[in-house]
Amino acid sequence: MAKRVNIKEDECIGCGTCEEICEEVFKLNEETEKAEVIKPEGGPEDLIQEAIDSCPVECIYWEE
Ligand code: SF4
Repeated sequence: MAKRVNIKEDECIGCGTCEEICEEVFKLNEETEKAEVIKPEGGPEDLIQEAIDSCPVECIYWEE
């Protein structure tokens, strides 16, 4: 089964780093100022992993 990526939105501080790294998968919601996953599958895994590693509050995670 393909890995899916998700965000613990209550912990997100809306810094925008994940969107900068991989805008295909992550998007900052301007109303809530939280990041959202707009494409949980099929994104470039290395960029998703980079976003996970770069998130300052470590709230992005893989669901398996
Ligand atoms: S990098 Fe983390 S804290 Fe920053 S917007 Fe993305 S999910 Fe939120």
